[in-house]
Amino acid sequence: MNAHDRRHVLTFGVGAAAAWIASPVFAQTIPADDQAQTKNLPFNLKGRFVQSGYCVGQAAPKAELWVDGTLRGYTSDAGWFYAGFDRDAGTTCTIEVRSPAGKQTAVLKIAAMTYDVQRVDGLPPQTVTPTDPDVLARIARDTALKNVAFASHTAGDAFKGGFIYPLTKYVVSGHFGNQRVLNGVPKSPHMGFDMAAPTGTPIRAPQAGLVVLAEPDMFFEGGLTLIDHGQGLISMYLHQSKVNVKKGNTVVQGQNIGQVGAKGRATGPHLCWRLKWLDRHMDPSLMVI
Ligand SMILES: [Zn+2]
Repeated sequence: MNAHDRRHVLTFGVGAAAAWIASPVFAQTIPADDQAQTKNLPFNLKGRFVQSGYCVGQAAPKAELWVDGTLRGYTSDAGWFYAGFDRDAGTTCTIEVRSPAGKQTAVLKIAAMTYDVQRVDGLPPQTVTPTDPDVLARIARDTALKNVAFASHTAGDAFKGGFIYPLTKYVVSGHFGNQRVLNGVPKSPHMGFDMAAPTGTPIRAPQAGLVVLAEPDMFFEGGLTLIDHGQGLISMYLHQSKVNVKKGNTVVQGQNIGQVGAKGRATGPHLCWRLKWLDRHMDPSLMVI
């Protein structure tokens, strides 16, 4: 199995106009090898079947969704479900939908991704290895707020429409999954897609959802917004200079949510765009259609 080269995804993505095709979902961007795989699978599965990718499918309404042997949630009123594949996902992912009518199973082959090592120097030392008690208290407060937000699990299914890029003009400054070395200290992998743009550049919601966190100044993240697109699929917007939405707001695709900045642990203005589903981290750029 060949490792997919993520760069080809980025080349057509930079500055690309939003493409909105409601049906069939995602059809125009699915690589041929992923399409071939879905021919023999139930649920009309679509997506990117690679590490840090995802799948979207449709089954019975309000049925149990089991992923890799664990109950992960329920299909929407229209039967839609999402499942993300982690950065280091294994070679297969098993999706099972159980309803009173019976159960259906799909075993997806997940292709390997390659990740680079990225060195970032010149960060303020307290942002790399914090020791100051006041800083540690602030980080603990931020973590508590984020944990509440990450527990959100709305019944919606806006994810089925895919994403548009949150910025219309940017330069990719960091790929998802890179092994990070900050000021010479090896850290956990970078779970975001970094888009460099001037401070003040407007950020738009890539898809509809519920704002579950909107904080103007977190220690690591600066201005931080989290949007639940349904079933616990949460996208994140870090380092914002200005946050223009509030917790509890619903947003539509394309709506302005804030502005690019360099707040928190950042060496320059950029948007760190992240995507999380339960305990799994995915590359949000793979959701762009
Ligand atoms: Zn980042």
